[in-house]
Amino acid sequence: MSAADKLIAGYQRFREGYYQENQAQLFKLADEGQSPKIAIVSCSDSRVDPTIILDCEPGDLFVIRNVANLVPPCEDTDNFHGTSAALEFAVTGLEVESIIVLGHTQCGGIKALMDSAGKKVDKSFISKWMLQLEHVRDDIIADTELKDQASRYSCCEQKGVQQSLDNLMTFPWIKKRVESGDLKLHGWRYDLYSSELCALDEKSGKFVRIS
Ligand SMILES: [Zn+2]
Repeated sequence: MSAADKLIAGYQRFREGYYQENQAQLFKLADEGQSPKIAIVSCSDSRVDPTIILDCEPGDLFVIRNVANLVPPCEDTDNFHGTSAALEFAVTGLEVESIIVLGHTQCGGIKALMDSAGKKVDKSFISKWMLQLEHVRDDIIADTELKDQASRYSCCEQKGVQQSLDNLMTFPWIKKRVESGDLKLHGWRYDLYSSELCALDEKSGKFVRIS
């Protein structure tokens, strides 16, 4: 069975099972539209599906996924800003109450960024995308307290979440709502091995276990 055939078989199971069992709720969502309370920015990594690891149902989460769960800064340029467009709809259209940036351990995007230090930047989209954390990477490399590469990867994953939270505040429609108390920002981190979920504590700047 090909990978695509496996998906079609999965879809058939969904249609005969979940779809039948939850038809009332699914039809309600179809009739009334979505109104999720939470937007989540998570990594494209196939191991970190927020709907699965947070045990959510259709309609619960507005999901924005990209390489390394990054929020770029608000920029007024003529490029195509996919993540910013999705955030704009979540905040100004859906009026979500929270935005969660969900980082994770063993992030391939972060590893690629750290491993690219000192090398010529290639023209790939991923290299350019990850360069938004270039200054974070350089600070980590200069930090003599981080003795091994695993600690540097971990530190960059965590600081990447902090940077994304800072960048969220560069969007005027996010800043306004955060300051009025209508929108909350959260930085979370999922550990692929231990399954611990941690949240960034604003005061200490450290991730503390929440589940
Ligand atoms: Zn990742």
